[in-house]
Formats: sequence, structure tokens, C-alpha cells
Amino acid sequence: MLVRYLRFFCLFATFFAITTQAASVEKYLPAGHNYKNEILKPTESLGFGIGERHVRHDQLLNYLETITEQSERIQLTEMGRTQQLRKQILLTISSPENLSNLDNILAARSVNLLEKNDDNNGTGEPLVIWLGYSVHGDEISGANAAMIVAYHLAASQEEAVEDLLENTIIVIEPSLNPDGMDRFVNWVSTHRGTTPNSDPNHIEHHQGWKTGRTNHFGFDLNRDWLLLSQKESINRVAYFHRYQPNVLGDFHEMGANGSYFFQPGIPSRTHPLTPKKNTELTQLLATYHASALDKSNRLYYSEESYDDFYYGKGSTYPDINGGIGILFEQASSRGMQQATDNGLLTFEYGIQNHVFTSLSTIEGAWKNSDKLKNYRRDFYKQSENLAKKEKFSGYLISEDDDKYRLEVFLSKLKQHQINVYPLTEDFRLEGKVFSRAHSYYVPLAQPKYRLIKALFGQGTNFQDNTFYDVSGWTMPLAMNLEFHQVGRTWGLKLADNVWSKPPVIPLTVDENAYAYAFEWHHFMSPKLLNELLNKNIQVKVATKPFTAIVAGVKKQFKTGTVIVPAGIQVTKDWRKNLITSSYKNAIELDALSTGLTIAGIDLGSRSLKLLTPIKVLLVGGKGVSQYEAAEILFYLDDTLNIPVTVVEKQRLSRIDLSQYSHVIMVDGDYSDLSIKDINKVTTWVKQGGVIFGQKRAAKWLSEKEILKVKFASKEQIEQMFDTDNLLYKDKEALAGRKRIAGAIFDTSLDISHPIAYGYNNEKLPLFRNSTLIMDFPSSPFVAVATYTAAPLMSGYTDQTLVNRLANNAAIVAHNVGHGRVIATSDNLAFRGYWHGSAKILANSVFFAKVFSTPMDK
Ligand SMILES: [Zn+2]
Repeated sequence: MLVRYLRFFCLFATFFAITTQAASVEKYLPAGHNYKNEILKPTESLGFGIGERHVRHDQLLNYLETITEQSERIQLTEMGRTQQLRKQILLTISSPENLSNLDNILAARSVNLLEKNDDNNGTGEPLVIWLGYSVHGDEISGANAAMIVAYHLAASQEEAVEDLLENTIIVIEPSLNPDGMDRFVNWVSTHRGTTPNSDPNHIEHHQGWKTGRTNHFGFDLNRDWLLLSQKESINRVAYFHRYQPNVLGDFHEMGANGSYFFQPGIPSRTHPLTPKKNTELTQLLATYHASALDKSNRLYYSEESYDDFYYGKGSTYPDINGGIGILFEQASSRGMQQATDNGLLTFEYGIQNHVFTSLSTIEGAWKNSDKLKNYRRDFYKQSENLAKKEKFSGYLISEDDDKYRLEVFLSKLKQHQINVYPLTEDFRLEGKVFSRAHSYYVPLAQPKYRLIKALFGQGTNFQDNTFYDVSGWTMPLAMNLEFHQVGRTWGLKLADNVWSKPPVIPLTVDENAYAYAFEWHHFMSPKLLNELLNKNIQVKVATKPFTAIVAGVKKQFKTGTVIVPAGIQVTKDWRKNLITSSYKNAIELDALSTGLTIAGIDLGSRSLKLLTPIKVLLVGGKGVSQYEAAEILFYLDDTLNIPVTVVEKQRLSRIDLSQYSHVIMVDGDYSDLSIKDINKVTTWVKQGGVIFGQKRAAKWLSEKEILKVKFASKEQIEQMFDTDNLLYKDKEALAGRKRIAGAIFDTSLDISHPIAYGYNNEKLPLFRNSTLIMDFPSSPFVAVATYTAAPLMSGYTDQTLVNRLANNAAIVAHNVGHGRVIATSDNLAFRGYWHGSAKILANSVFFAKVFSTPMDK
């Protein structure tokens, strides 16, 4: 080991001579520049040199606020606050004249104007360059580089910089993920020593369970640009569309043994909706990055490893919005320094590379300004023609029952600047009537044509079958909304104005009813139910349908309807609390004046089951997927306001499980749980606990015989692939075929099962990103959702795997002694936008004891 270290040291001394001491800001910047004295240097604000310590978000903010006050070239905008209330800021850097006229300049660049104004060639308007840093908070060299770039642009007295700022607007987002940034910085600063330690084994380089990569909850914000499930993305996307950048640089870090990557990525893996010209311009800009890095003899590469396919990333979202998105990846020192295959890698070295390519992006874009502006113009001009070539003219979207889910979807389209129109008359298409009250139309002929195709598309065939991220993300499927391609628009009557969220109309309800009812199809019904249970209001669920008179009108109530009968209440203020809660959640409460119904069960029937308060524990900790834990926490805690107790699996042995009604386990490695832990969990379930397992947790439950459903073994899946006649070069392609990187599958849902209450349609699209396959259960009533005979709906999956999934179980549930087990091989609340199957989780929480499927074999 000692020999190895000496070797590292020699390499370091030979090749990395400039990284020995922390640099003043000028050392990171081009030599010979004159800088204005009145602009504060980062060191003077921080009290240390950039690269000497990891800058916290408040320190970053403080420095940038200070130079904003000192420079007439900078405007600082607060876009919003993160979950932990940190400011999300943007710096707009341009000439003082441009800044004073910013609103007009940006409005003149609006895409709607571009479309209509054919004679303006667009070259008169300024170029917009957006540089975004460290969306993954533990890839922190970017945020540190941002301060240097901002200083340079604010303080440089060179004529070239003044010229540049007269004709460009440079937007710097110094930290896309402030909460993750501080989580990481605190980790490194806590664990680093006084003496630099490059040993990769040192704790400094190994974060805890929730890493700085993710935001407060544990979401990867670099997957959320399209999905807009997280606050940070929602706040940002409005500004993205306000600025419509021609070029967006997205600055990251990768594994310590890499060198430096810039796009283009793998040519065959660019999404077909991205124009070819985009790749050409990316290649052109790449020559500037290469030349900047060549000058300092720095290693780099492009056209490998990364792709440009999934549009939810910072480097791809611009590609579907008329700009050029460019991914930069610096090998990570993940701390102050680390010994790597390329020698000693220091924090400063990474910062320097990102400064080089930030400046080369600005230079390359500036020198090719006209090409980029014309590209953006053409991108939008083409929309009309491309739309005309399609076999259909737009999409109809409808959802009869759950207005909430529909409005969340429409509001996402609106945030993406897609025009949606309400119907003014009912419309008949292929024998189905789309009622004007619940249907909306998205015409293809509009500037955001390509983005619409990206959100609604259901591709299953691709040029290259290896995917860096998901291959299918069709948003209306994720939200379980009906959508149809409309071929002929004859008879389709639309409102003149685009959809906007209607104001909430205050609901009223009779305050002296015999009982109250609310339906379960509303997305927020579980939130209301939980509130009522916590207020000690006695609540029952209808396990059979009934018809009753509400305000003089006959109304049918489906199974899953929640009933609050006056006769069994035990608290004084129950009516007031019930009505307040239902108003607050905008859920309609029906007043019933008698227990006798017109049809179906009466309100005193045994088919109404009493519901009890719940207390949920989620198993977390190292080895458990922080993403899936985040998705479930976000849904239960943030959306439904159900508190969830997170216990790391290492701590499970010390927890008294009898306090909890539910244990949730998501994908993870549970092989290190002790026999004692397993027995403890098994006993708790048998005594009445409810356990929910997703993906590898479900498989673990099956191995421990808590779940009586078998999984296909790894070997069985391996053997399905024919490997005869394969050459060594086919290795990667075979690995791609054996993987499900993320695709959407059609299932048939047993809507009579309590776990499926609230669903009125037997078709439920599910998302899966693993090859864990459950066999169809041998006992009846266990499968709640089953893959259809030809289940692939969107994204890539090899036909061998599609066939293996067909007709097998996707969601299962059965009794275990007095308890219940519910399991799935899919990802039910994927990335916080999979609103379609999320309710299965709420149902597993509230209705697990409503079903009974003994399986004692
Ligand atoms: Zn990254």
C-alpha cells in the first residue's frame, strides 16, 4: 500500500503541479485581465480561498448579494425557496442598459412572437446563455466555479467583456439544489482533517444514507425538469421560459477515476425529437471546450458514456425547447482531495475545469451567436409544419371523477408553456362522448409541438436499446388520465382562451345530517380521512355500493366511499371539524338524511367497516433506496400529511414494533437483517401488523416466507436470453437487453378489491425499472393488479422480458395470521409524479384490514 501511495504522490508532483495551493480568484481566470477594484473578491467575503474549503450556501449567497450591490452589470433574482427555505437565486449578467430594459428584451424573444413575426431574422436580439451549477449537491465544484465566473463577468475591464455583455444576457444559477449542497458541505466539513487526506476510504468521501445529490426529500432534481414534482423545479421552470436560453450549461461531477466529459454524448442515443442541427451545434461548441482544456493539458472526452434521451434533465430539457443543453462532468474529488487512477485529484482542479468550460461556453456561444439564434427561430418555425405532417391534430384528455389529478396535469402542461383548451360543447369521438365539463384539448399546432410529443409519446422501438435513464415517461399514463389522438376536429368546439386553474368554489353542506359521505376517487381523500381519524371522528368505509338521495337527487356511491354516521360519534365538535376539514381539502361532502338507502347496503350494514388511526414506520438507512424512500415520504408526509417514522434498518432491532400499524419497505438490500430482526417482523405481522414491500423488499418478504408469492430467480431470467453466436463486442448490447431501465406497463386492476378502492377503470399503467418478476399467485384473490397479455405501453423492454411479464402479478396482497402483506415489483409513486398508482399506497395504509385473503398453506 505504501508503494502505491508513493506512486500517487509522484504522479501528483509531475502532472498536477498547479494544484498544490489554494488559489486566489485570479489564478482560476485568464491571465492579464484588469479587474475593477470595487468588486469584492470571493476570498475577501469568505475568509478563505476558493478551493481551500467547501463553501456553504449562505456564504455563496452572501458573496453574490454583495457583488450584486457593487456591480451595475448584475441583477439578482430570488426564484423561490427550497423545502428547507433556502433561497433559489439567479444572477442575470449583462450591460446596464440591457438590465434596465430586461422585461422588454425578454418579451420580444417570446416564442409566440417568433412564430408570427417572419420578417424579423432574430439576429438583433441578445443571445441568452444560462449556466447552471451543482444540481447534484455533492457535485460541488460547480457552485464554487460559479462565484469565480460571476466575479469575472462583474469585474473584468476588458473591452471584449463589455462587448459581450452588450449583446448577451448571461444567467447564472449558482446552486440548483441548495438543500443538497449544504447537506454535502456539512458532511465534508465535519469529516475532513486538518491535514489533507487523499485516501478514498476516508469517511469524508462517503456520505450517509441521504446524500447531497438529492434535495430535501431525496429526489434527484436532475430528473425533474419535465416532471415538475419538486418545488425547486417548479420555481425554476417559470424563469427558464422567461429567459428561453439559447445555450444552457449543466455542470456536474462523476466518479473520481474519470477525467472530464462534455457533450455531445453517444450519438445514437439522442432522442429523435431533438433536431440533428442541435448535435452539430453541440459539436461546434465542443471545439471551444477542447481548446480551453488542451491549453492546460487536461484530459477529457465526449461522445461516450452519457446520452441525450430523457428530457427531464438540465442538459436535455433545453433541447426540446429551442436551445442547446450541454452536460459537463468533472471527475469528483468528493471532498478536499482523492487519490485516483489519474493521480491526485484535488477540489481546486475540478473547480478550475468548470471555470474553463464555463468561459469556453460563453466564448463559443458568443462567436456563433447568429447560428444559435437562427437555430432557435427555426426550431419554433418548424412546429407548424411538423404538426401538419402528423396523422392527427391533437390530444383530448379527460377524467370524469378526480378533478384534482386532472388539474395537476393541466397545470404541468401550462408550466411547460403548452396551450390547453377547455371544450365548450360535448364531443363525440369513436363512439365515446367527451363531456365539456371534464375534457380538454391540446392542439399539436403550437410552438411547443415537440414538447407535447415528448410528454405524450409512447415510443417502444429505438435505434439504440441502452438507456442512461428511463426510456418511457408518458405523462398522462403516469397520471392515469384518459387521452386520445384526435384525427378529425370537425365538431370540436373550443374555448377562445387557454385553460387556467379555476378558483375554488366554496362548498356548503347541511349541518344536521344523519350521516356524511365522501367519495374515494378524489386524490386528496386519503388526506381528509387521515385528518378525521386523528380528530377521533368515527369513520366507516363502504365495502359494497349503494344509492341514496342527496339534496333531493339520486346518487350512486361506489365501494370505498367513506361514511361518517352521526350516531356513533364520540367527540363534541365532530361536525365542525369534519366540515372544516372537507372545505380545506376541497372535497365534496354529501349529507345523507336517513340510514335507509334506495338500493344497495343501508348505512347500518355490516358491510360498512370501521377504520382506525394508523401509525407508519418506513425502514430506511444505508442500503435502502433513498429515491424510493423519498417518493413514499413525499406522498404520505408532504402530500397527505401522514407523519412517517423513518427507522434505519440498523436500528430496527431496538424498536418496539407494536406501536406501529404499518411497516413500509422499499427497494434495498435487506440481506444484513439478523434472524432476530426477521423473527421480530414476522411475529409482528402475524399478530396483526401490515407490511408493504416494494421491489427487492417484496422479494425479501417472499424469501422469508412472509409473502407467499414466488419471484423468478436471477438464473431463470439469465437463461431466457439466447447468447449463441454473440461476439465480445455484443456484450454491452446484451446487458442493455437484460435491463429494464424504466418503462410503462399495462395492468388489469381488480377494482372490486379494497386495495383498489377509488379506481373506476380496470386499466392501470404501472412503472417498472427492474427485472424483478413475480409469478401469478396459486391462490385466488391474491393478485390485485395483473400484467395484461401484451403489457408494454411506453419505453424499451426486450420482448423476452415483456413475454415473461405478461399475465403475471404486479401487485399482490394476502393475510399473514392476523396481519396483512402487500407487495409489488413496480414503483408505485415513481419520481413524485406517478399519481396514477400512488393511491394503491394510501389504500394499503387505510384499507389493509378491510380485505381478508387467507393463504394458509
Ligand atoms: Zn450529476
